[in-house]
Parts: sequence; structure tokens; C-alpha cells
Amino acid sequence: MSENNIPVNEEVKTPVSFIEQIIIDDLEAGKNGGRIHTRFPPEPNGYLHIGHAKAICLNFGMAQKYGGKCNLRFDDTNPVKEDVEYVDSIKEDIRWLGFDWEDREYYASDYFGELFEYAVDLIKRGLAYVDDQSAEIIAEQKGTPTKAGEESPYRNRPIEENLDLFYRMNEGEFDEGSRVLRVKIDMASPNMHMRDPIIYRILKKEHHRTGDKWNVYPMYDFAHGECDYYEGITHSLCTLEFEVHRPLYDWLVEHLKSDDYRPRQIEFNRLNLTYTVMSKRRLLELVQEERVKGWDDPRMPTLCGLRRRGYTPESIKKFIDMIGYTKVEAINDVTLLEHAVRDDLNIKAPRVFGVLNPVKVVITNYPDDMVEELELINNPEDESMGSRKVHFCKEVYIEREDFMEDPPNKFFRLAPGREVRLKGAYIVKCDSFKRNKRGEIKEIYCTYDKETKSGNEQSGRRVKGTLHWVSARHAVDAEVRLYDRLFKHENPLEDKETDFREFLNPDSLEILEGCKIEPWLADAKPLEKFQFQRMGYFCVDYDSTPDKPVFNRTISLKDTWAKINK
Ligand code: ATP
Ligand code: MG
Repeated sequence: MSENNIPVNEEVKTPVSFIEQIIIDDLEAGKNGGRIHTRFPPEPNGYLHIGHAKAICLNFGMAQKYGGKCNLRFDDTNPVKEDVEYVDSIKEDIRWLGFDWEDREYYASDYFGELFEYAVDLIKRGLAYVDDQSAEIIAEQKGTPTKAGEESPYRNRPIEENLDLFYRMNEGEFDEGSRVLRVKIDMASPNMHMRDPIIYRILKKEHHRTGDKWNVYPMYDFAHGECDYYEGITHSLCTLEFEVHRPLYDWLVEHLKSDDYRPRQIEFNRLNLTYTVMSKRRLLELVQEERVKGWDDPRMPTLCGLRRRGYTPESIKKFIDMIGYTKVEAINDVTLLEHAVRDDLNIKAPRVFGVLNPVKVVITNYPDDMVEELELINNPEDESMGSRKVHFCKEVYIEREDFMEDPPNKFFRLAPGREVRLKGAYIVKCDSFKRNKRGEIKEIYCTYDKETKSGNEQSGRRVKGTLHWVSARHAVDAEVRLYDRLFKHENPLEDKETDFREFLNPDSLEILEGCKIEPWLADAKPLEKFQFQRMGYFCVDYDSTPDKPVFNRTISLKDTWAKINK
């Protein structure tokens, strides 16, 4: 225990979450024979987003930490929206995060037979009935939380008739929407989910795993609790919106007529991020309407999007650790996620020179044909990352914004008559510059001081500004994609009156051509990560080739979160 009585996890010295505490207590009490078994249950109807990562880290993380198991279970109860494309991407993303379900890859559809039998059993026990009314009428009869619902005229149908109709529903005799199977609980329950919920509907659709075997499919609410039970799940961890469904899940498992054990459902708060929408349905709309370039567009909060953007699994896990698990819905500040990736890449990413908006500097007193190889360290945070050779010659590119014709006093970069250090090379002084016809700065003329070569401490000369640069003769052209937030509004779904698309940021992607990079970077492989000094962290894009290197900016170097929270 810590001083303020918060239980402390000895291994990492951070307070354990309320969920972890429940698990610890259950294990200590010897519940379920000391077993812990969790599951991650995605519906294969879209790609995973960072919200799912929160559920993945919890379910797999707890099982891992306490010597248990975690199943991957695809909740494929709705053949209309599901696809194998999604199944494959979900598996890839979970693996990328570093988790393993071993041989425990399950599907709710694996249990369609058992679920059907259970439904039949409920009918036989007078606990379920076929309702011939439309879904709209059934919804109207549901009542409100303060007003009891109305019983269906079919509620007391004879058991034999129910059985006959349910079998015929499955044989394909009736149209979609013409009949449903409902469980008979209590139309006056204060919990709306207990008011005779629908457990089976007719869907004459091919299922990606069971083909045309079924014409009726179980509702998610019917399948979920039983699947947990069939798989021996001890702790069924899910998001808060399922709290009100829990009595139904418990009721259904209770009526399975077995009493060996019960899965325990525990709810936690969803991950929401500012300036982001976190719903597969909305993300699918953005993809289908081509407002982004696919699920893995680097502006998307999907795991494949974040990966392409340059996020590491470690940065995502670290962020999830920082926000923790509570019982209160909130929106997490996206700058905290950005802080986590900066922190991680700061250690991992080698420093390189990349000039995004180049302007040429000619060092007039440097010999025309001379080329020097300068040695630069790759990461001051980690000596083991070594050093590399960088060419220097008479002409170099610097960042256009690092020169000003008429600068204010505090501008410690290049300007007529001022001096800067070219990082790892020399101090240069600007003597003059030339404009092109459009009036833009075309070339800047400098002289260098030979005595100031980096590492030559005797020169004793210091200047305030240090610039990154790339040798003009050696540089390679690259395309760089800069990203801003996809939405301009902190909570794009907050205002129900306004379509969230209206909050899309028209400037969320800026493509720069003709950026200048160190030549060896052209051979870097997709997803390799670098810090372009002073410009941010960058990651090689899948579109990159040695002839046309393409980099995504993961994030700039300015850490607003760290500043605010100092
Ligand atoms: P969405 O609302 O984005 O469409 P979903 O809840 O329908 O997501 P599922 O495939 O059903 O998506 O989710 C699988 C698991 O991931 C569920 O247990 C769900 O609770 C969890 N999950 C989904 N979104 C979040 C989130 N934002 N934060 C934490 N867990 C989440
Ligand atoms: Mg869902």
C-alpha cells in the first residue's frame, strides 16, 4: 500500500487500476480455481483504432501479468457489415502491439449451433417467444425508463407454435424483418434492456464463415455473455456503455442451467481523444467518402494509420498506461499521446539532416572542388547508436525560414552581416544574397571561418544560432507529408446539430516536394524512423522508393503537453 492507501503494484510502483485490484483480490480468494482468462472481442466491421488498443492492452496485459490467457474472439454476429479484410487487419494490429492469442482465435459464429440450441431450450421452457411485429412497433411498445412497456400480443403464444415458427424462420420461410425471437423477461423492468429483448432476427445473408447455413442470426446481446461462458472467461472487461447490458448477460448465463462458474463483467471508460472521432462507423464514412486516403491514412486514429504515421507500439502503450482505467467517461487530450510518441522516438530515432523548404547557401571562400566528410553523432541520448559521415562542400541547402533579410533582434539565425554555425561544420557569415524574378530569395552568399570547424575548441568562437543543412552536391530530393489534426473542433461529435464533417480541417495534409535529405536516407525502408533535426520526427512511407523517397512527419518537436504540465 502507498501512503494514501492506494494499492501499489510493486513491479512498476504505480497504483494499480481498480480492475487490476479486482483481479488481484479474485486470485487471492482462489476464485475460479485461481484462473484468469480474458478476451478481446472485436466486431470485424472496421479497422481497429487507438480506443481498441486500450481494451487490448487491458485484456492481454492483465492475462500476461497474472499468468492467465487472453482469447481473440471475433464478434461476427452481423453478416451484413463484416468482412475477412477486417479480420486480417485486426490480427495484424494486435500482433503489432506485441500481443499473442496463441491458438485461441475464436468467432462468435463458432457457437451459432450452441446458441441456436439454447434459444430452442428457452422456447421450450416458456422463456422465449416469436413476435410477428415489426422492429418499429416493438420499439414503440418498449416504453420509457419511467413508463412500463406494453406486452406484445404474441407474448403468450403456445410453446409448440413458437418452436415451429422459430425453426421455420431459420429454414428461410419468412422475410427479413417479419418476425423475431424475444426472450420473456419483464416489460416493466426499470432496465430497458430487460424488456423482452430481441435475441434472434432473420437475415438472409451469406456469412463470411458459415456461408448460407443460417437464416437467423443471434443478436450481439444474446451471444456475448454466453460466448464468454463457453470460453471459460473469468473477467469480461468491456467499456462503460455495457454496464446497463450486464443484468441481461447475467440473466442469460444464469438460465443456461449450469452453475459451475460465472464470468464477471467489469466496465471501464472508453478512450476518447480531442480533435478525433473514435467510432468505426464514422471512420468508415471518412474512408468511403474519400475524405482520407484509406483506413491507414496517417491522419486516422486507426492503429494502421498511427503505424504509418510513425507511432511505435511502445508509445501507444505508454500513453494508455498514463491515462489509466476509470469509471468516468472523459476526453483525453491528444497532446498527451503526442508527448508519448516524442518521448519514445527521442530515444529511438537517429538524428539526420533534412531540409524541408530549401534555399541555397554558397560559401564563397570555400574551395570549389573540396569535399569534406564530417562525423556527426546519431543520437545524443544514446551513444551506442554511433555516428555517421556527412558530406560538406561549397554549396549547402538550409531552411528558407532560417534566413531573414531584415530580422528582429532575437532572430538567432542567418541574416545579412550575421553569423551562425552550420551544425557539425563551420561558422559562416552572411555577406549578401540574391533574389529571383519573383522576388524570392534565390541564393545566400556566405564566408566561412576555417578555424571554427566543429571539434576545434581552440577557435573559442561561439555563436547563438545553429542550423541544420545538407550538401547541395550530395542531397537527394524527397517528398515530405506534413500533417495537422484531421478536425478543427476539439470534440467533432459534441454538437448533435452539426455534421462532424463540417469540422474537418482542410489543411490537415500538406505535401512538400523537393525537400533535401542526406543521400543514404533514400534507401531507408518503410516505417524506419528518424529525427530530422529541428524539424520533427519522420517516418518512411510505404510509397517511398529509392528514386522517390517519401517521408511522413510523425510529429514536430514542440511538446505542448510537456510545457503545460511542467
Ligand atoms: P466503435 O464504437 O468504435 O465502433 P465498438 O465498440 O463497436 O467500437 P468493437 O469491435 O465492438 O467496437 O470493440 C471491441 C472491444 O473494444 C470492445 O470490448 C469495446 O469495449 C472495446 N473498445 C471499443 N472502442 C473503445 C474505446 N474507444 N476505448 C476503449 N475500448 C474500446
Ligand atoms: Mg461494438
